[in-house]
Parts: sequence; C-alpha cells; structure tokens
Amino acid sequence: MFGLIGHLTSLEHAQSVAEQLGYPEYAEQGIDFWCSAPPVLLEEFTVKSITGKTIEGAYIESCFLPEMLASRRAKAAVRKILNAMALAQKQGINITALGGFSSIVFEEFNLKESKQVRDVELEFERFTTGNTHTAYVIVRQVEQASAQLGIDLAKATVAVVGATGDIGSAVCRWLDQKTSVADLLLVARNQERLQALQAELGRGKILALEEALVEADILVWVASIPKSLEIKVETLKKPCLIIDGGYPKNLGTKIQHPEITVLKGGIVEHSLDISWTIMEIVNMDAPARQMFACFAEAMLLEFEDCQTNYSWGRNQITPERMEKIGEFSIKHGFKPLI
Ligand code: NDP
Repeated sequence: MFGLIGHLTSLEHAQSVAEQLGYPEYAEQGIDFWCSAPPVLLEEFTVKSITGKTIEGAYIESCFLPEMLASRRAKAAVRKILNAMALAQKQGINITALGGFSSIVFEEFNLKESKQVRDVELEFERFTTGNTHTAYVIVRQVEQASAQLGIDLAKATVAVVGATGDIGSAVCRWLDQKTSVADLLLVARNQERLQALQAELGRGKILALEEALVEADILVWVASIPKSLEIKVETLKKPCLIIDGGYPKNLGTKIQHPEITVLKGGIVEHSLDISWTIMEIVNMDAPARQMFACFAEAMLLEFEDCQTNYSWGRNQITPERMEKIGEFSIKHGFKPLI
C-alpha cells in the first residue's frame, strides 16, 4: 500500500472544506484548534496503471496549515508532520509521499533527529519527498510548453526562483545538462547557497527577483513561500512562460495577458480515472486524473515494487534519477500537465 500525506492551503481553505471532509465541527474553528487537531486517514482508494497493475493507497490529512509557519507556531507544525508520518507507518503503509510543506518542515526542523513518536519508531525508508518526480515533471513542462509557444530554449533565459531548494537545484542541473538553455538566472535569498549552486553548475547569474523578472523568457517558480504573491504583468517579458510549481500556488491567478502563459507546475495527469475526493478539495481542474507529482512518485514506487525513500535529504537530485522516475511515470500512464 502507498500513502500520501497532504495538507490544505490556508486556514480559510480548511474552514471552507471542513464540512466536505466530514468534520463540520472544524468549520468555525481558528488556527489554535487546527494546531491541536490530530492527523486523519481521510480516504482509501485504488489506482490502476496502464500496464494493468492495480495498487491500494490512502490519503492522510496532517491538519498542518501554512499559517503555522507564518505565525511562528513551529512546534505545532513539527507535531503535525511527525504525527502524520507515525499514523502512516502504523497503518502499515510501505511508501508515503510527504506532500506540500511536509518535507520542507521535515528538513527545516531537522526531524531526522526525531525518530521516536510515542510508541512508533519512524522508519524513514518508508517515506519519500516526491521531489525527484516533481522536478522531472517541471522540466518536462518547461520543454513541452516552450515548444508549443515557439520559445527556443537554446536562446532562452530561464529564471529559477527558489533555485537553491531541493526542487529548484534539480531543475537547474537538468536545464544546464539536458536542455542546455542559453542563460540561467538563479534567485533565492541566501547568497552563500546561491554561490555554492553557481560554483556547482559552473554557470548561472545570481539576481534579485525584480531583476530576474525583467530578463526571463521562462520563469520557474519553486520557492517555498506559504502565501501567494502577485507579480506585476508590466515587469515581465512578452512572451513569457511561467511554471508555478509552489504549493500553495505561489503566484496569483490574476496574470492575464495574451502573451503570458501560466502553467500549474509539478502537476501530472493520469491516463485513467481515480475515484477519490481529495483532488477535488484542492481544486484540481480534472480531479479524477490530476495530482501533485510528489504524490504520483509514491504511486510509481509502489507500482515498481520499489518501496524506498527514492527522494530524500536536500539537493541530491541528479538528472539521471529524474530520468529514471520519468521512465516509470510514462510507463504507468502519467503525463505532465500542459
Ligand atoms: P526547499 O525548502 O528545498 O527550497 C525552497 C527554495 O525557495 C529555496 O531556494 C529558498 O531559498 C527559496 N525561497 C524561500 N523563500 C523565498 C523568497 N521569499 N524569495 C525567494 N526565494 C525564496 O523547497 P522544495 O524545493 O522542497 O519545494 C519548493 C516548492 O515546491 C514548495 O512551495 C513546495 O510546497 C512545492 N512542492 C510542490 C510539489 C508538487 O508535487 N507540485 C511537491 C513538493 C513541493 P532562500 O531560503 O535562500 O530564499
């Protein structure tokens, strides 16, 4: 069995869907209530591959909300993730994806030092961040959407916002080695990490966000920002392709310009329907088929009988491992959302 640990995008979102989730008593409650809510196994479902193989899965809602980080409720955030992992393990789930902010909280607060969760000793090999598949899907979205829009990658300037992150650095490595884009712009806040990435790649211009926005033909947004931001359309090049890979989606949906294309980044579409409700709750356009690529990674590992932490730690994702998970993705019927 595979598992998915997820969370909702905001307190407002959580309050609005509480009833739908079967918890009407949560609908009126504020952030402190959510801080004390335990994780819940919300639903179980089956997923069929185009090879014919069928696997069983479960979705665990951690009850983490991004506001817990913004409002300095770090202890609650940590508790949410550890408790959700302990619940997945207690259910006997072999491989579970840490969706959205779950893996970010895990790394940020060094939770590998917190193996013991009450009576459960966490076995980290049962969990994957899903970031290798997410990075693979994002680079394929860059390649496929730019071809559709007539943007020549060999001449294009690509800005990666969140370049030093786990997904961002993997995207940079791929765009450098596999796609050979003309120029790579590296955007994040910590200068030391930016310089280390630049040294590793042997290329890339370190720029502030405002400078990068003006120069980019393609903008890959994979920064871990808990709230969505607005970008001024007038600052962007025309045409411009934006891949919004953050969760919650970091960019507002208000960018509406005939020469600017915004794609939901890191989302895959399965070839066969899945009967679950969770993707409806997170507002996927085609909820029976579309999902986060990190969730799909847990499915792929289960399909392949490779129940291990394929994506783990930080900044270790190689183009070769992206290619490998990409092969599994195609084999089982998943396609990047274009
Ligand atoms: P990491 O924590 O590894 O990296 C985050 C990156 O964002 C770092 O480079 C960080 O650098 C940068 N960053 C954070 N805040 C800012 C800011 N204000 N301005 C500019 N840069 C910033 O995160 P991941 O790579 O694991 O995840 C990235 C995003 O992808 C997250 O939003 C996550 O939720 C989403 N995600 C999507 C998935 C999907 O399936 N679609 C799956 C998994 C994750 P610095 O701190 O130096 O600024």
